[in-house]
Amino acid sequence: MAESYLEWMLKVLKEAVELGGFPEEVYKYLSKPDRILIVKIPVRMDDGRLEIFEGYRVQHNNALGPYKGGIRFHPEVTLETDMALALGMTLKNSLAGIPYGGGKGAVRVDPKKLSKRELEQLSRGYARAIAPLIGDQIDIPAPDVNTNPQIMAWMVDEYSKLKGYNVPGVFTAKPPELWGNPVRIYSTGFGAVVAAKEAAERWLGGFEGKTIAIHGFGNAGQYAALWATKWGAKVVAISDTSGSVYDPEGIDVELAMKVKNETRKVINYPKGQKFPGDSDVPLYVDADILIPAAIENVITAENVDKVKAKLIVEAANGPTTPDAEKKLYERKDFVAVVPDILANAGGVIMSYLEWVENLQWYFWDEEETRNKLAAIMKRNFHRTADRWEKLKSEKDFIVTMRDAAFVLAVERVYTAMKLRGWL
Ligand code: GLU
Repeated sequence: MAESYLEWMLKVLKEAVELGGFPEEVYKYLSKPDRILIVKIPVRMDDGRLEIFEGYRVQHNNALGPYKGGIRFHPEVTLETDMALALGMTLKNSLAGIPYGGGKGAVRVDPKKLSKRELEQLSRGYARAIAPLIGDQIDIPAPDVNTNPQIMAWMVDEYSKLKGYNVPGVFTAKPPELWGNPVRIYSTGFGAVVAAKEAAERWLGGFEGKTIAIHGFGNAGQYAALWATKWGAKVVAISDTSGSVYDPEGIDVELAMKVKNETRKVINYPKGQKFPGDSDVPLYVDADILIPAAIENVITAENVDKVKAKLIVEAANGPTTPDAEKKLYERKDFVAVVPDILANAGGVIMSYLEWVENLQWYFWDEEETRNKLAAIMKRNFHRTADRWEKLKSEKDFIVTMRDAAFVLAVERVYTAMKLRGWL
């Protein structure tokens, strides 16, 4: 049987504990979550039927601060996947340098099959079910796959009603009109471009004029394309499930976003070369930087030989498989895969800034918030790059940037646990 996501995460954790020279106990401690909550969510459907949904909230570790991580609505999600994702959040938040532990929630449902009323009932029902174990100082959920600011608005409303007063900081990534921040909508794509820019300036002699290919044109992909262009790079390829567009002269990103949002299909973009039905063109075109911004497992041992980019910046979670990553680093001209836990942390870092605003009932303007987010991303990028270069010089085997990111992530949470007397 293929390795599960949890098994894969545990293997990476074990390797990081070994590579960083931490005591084995760290692995023993972090391989299990602190607490798992399994809930039942009854929903009266529009046709009068009663449907029972199953949901989870996994609280993995809170050595660094309240548990923090999104809620996923997905028909195939399992408790085991949720456990892997919660461990991933402990490491992502630790590496991000923000005062959070890790957690993750999920509901097994296909939200596309629900009416708006049913979706609202499900969201409120889940918030009620996990309410005894969350709180703005305890565990702070946010959106993840198939969840969004409207869902956060329903959940924060439900929780506030239960408490009898408004608790804005218990969920993050809320709509800007309801205690959210306008930066949150583009924070993941923006953060990935900050990482790409810092990497290009550090290793490729600059960001301006560099060519960029983007695989996936959802929220992260669109805003990555937009900020890359604003900062002087040239986006030459984009794609979604409808196909790919390639234009070596540069894609008009604002127009592509307009087309995508009006017609839902990137392939309707009126210029450049079109590849209907083929989403993978951006992976293989001649570009300096590739930003996978769709799903996991897109760069694999089977197709990695066709990838030409020197730098990969993972806006998606898990787009490069371990085998493929190894092959990339064997290539002479290859520079780095900036790993997901570093490159796509813009979302949760922005959640942190929103939570700080909420706790104080004091809000920064958009530009000030964006500058704070950029500064944190920049610091994290160079901290990881410095550690990577140091590890590379010490070891006689290939050390990836991902290895360095995991070592740093484990180090910070381990130090907190040691100081607190847990280990
Ligand atoms: N779901 C996002 C992630 O995996 C954001 C989590 C958050 O903002 O708490 O990083």
